[in-house]
Amino acid sequence: MQPLLETMKSWRVVIASAKNWQVPTCRYIPRSHFLAVIVLSGLLLLTMLFVPSEDVAASRHQSILLPLPDLADDGTDIIDHYPDDYGVDTAPVLEEAKEPRLWKQEVIRPGDNLTSIFKRLSLNNADVYAVANAGKEASALKHLRPDEVISVATDDKGELAAVKYQRSLLESYVYTKSGAAFSGEKVVRHPDLLPAFRTTIIENSLFLDGEQAGLSHNLIMQIANVFGWDIDFALDIRQGDSFSILYEEKYLDGEKIGTGDILAAEFSNQGEVYRAVRFVEGDGSINYYTPDGQPMRKAFLRAPLDFTRISSNFNLKRKHPIHKMIKAHRGVDYAAPRGTPVYAAGDGKVIAAGYSKANGNYVFIQHGQKYTTKYLHLNKKAVKSGQSVRQRQVIGTVGSTGYATGPHLHYEFLVNGIHHNPRTVKLPKADPIAQEARPGFIQQTTPLLAQLDSLRNVQLAQATPE
Ligand SMILES: [Zn+2]
Repeated sequence: MQPLLETMKSWRVVIASAKNWQVPTCRYIPRSHFLAVIVLSGLLLLTMLFVPSEDVAASRHQSILLPLPDLADDGTDIIDHYPDDYGVDTAPVLEEAKEPRLWKQEVIRPGDNLTSIFKRLSLNNADVYAVANAGKEASALKHLRPDEVISVATDDKGELAAVKYQRSLLESYVYTKSGAAFSGEKVVRHPDLLPAFRTTIIENSLFLDGEQAGLSHNLIMQIANVFGWDIDFALDIRQGDSFSILYEEKYLDGEKIGTGDILAAEFSNQGEVYRAVRFVEGDGSINYYTPDGQPMRKAFLRAPLDFTRISSNFNLKRKHPIHKMIKAHRGVDYAAPRGTPVYAAGDGKVIAAGYSKANGNYVFIQHGQKYTTKYLHLNKKAVKSGQSVRQRQVIGTVGSTGYATGPHLHYEFLVNGIHHNPRTVKLPKADPIAQEARPGFIQQTTPLLAQLDSLRNVQLAQATPE
């Protein structure tokens, strides 16, 4: 009964806050309960159809209130490869000790070490020495970080019996007294990964609308990273663009603790539809491909700067008057706040990094024999001539040095020495998925894409009045 109860609880949350779209889906529901859940879902759908939405914008972001089928029907579990990327737990989970112990806890402050913390917990140097020598796991105690928590338990004689060091929600270290010495153990917990679905129509920018729809920063950045090779999120996004994503939500003890990977996604940009799906490679690494196995990742980024800093994407009037003093304009201008990070558009080598009256601070990067990219008017340069750079490495920041009337990045893209429009130039294609990996790719990605499609279709059916 426990899972059904849990499910009922979460459904009630859904009903109470249908506009928060934080719908945990129900991968773990036993089959016997499916009927009940389906009936319940049906009622919910009916309710939603007959209760008019007060807020049209909000209704565009609704999640689907349907239990999702098992993602991994082949019996394999969804691979968790996100260790602890969601910060630190301040309330450690202390499971019941066998004999009742009195636990005291202390939050780590800047500059703390084990000695200072133990002192606040009324423990002495002999205790510090004993715990610091609890085998190899004791080395974790040398790297205490502020706001983490250390808990200690004493036995009935008032002597130190156990120490717990909670590093994050998922990672902790336990040191227990056995005989005269302490022994240490690392405890790693794994969150439950449940699929969730969102669809959103863009009114302003991916970043603003994503935030408004309640997407985590992590998810918004993933969307930008997955589609950033095809779509210029700084200049190409238009009102009415839309995206749908199937992604993982992480739960620990029934509580949502964060989001995981995007599993499948679709982005409609100015009428063009891009689709991507996650593939876990043989070595466990994650890559995104088109449904037919072309890598989403390309040799060059469309927009070589942190687009999240660009607040006004649609104001076309702001796009051009910046380079008044440059006669022939051979690049693209990205108006962005001073200090916005500028990225290397692709892997390459810095062939020039300097200052001139017209260009201000500039960086030129050579990518293989054929391609060169140029970045002008930088506030600061972060690379030197001759240096190798990786794609998305920060090479400087947006500024207004040289002939510039306001802070912006002037970006040029050259193929065999000839200027091309970086926003439309045909970029070299990376190799598609290897022939031998194709069956595994199809098997892994087909259900994800099917799920994305069916959820989006249900969403469309819900949004369209009869
Ligand atoms: Zn320019």
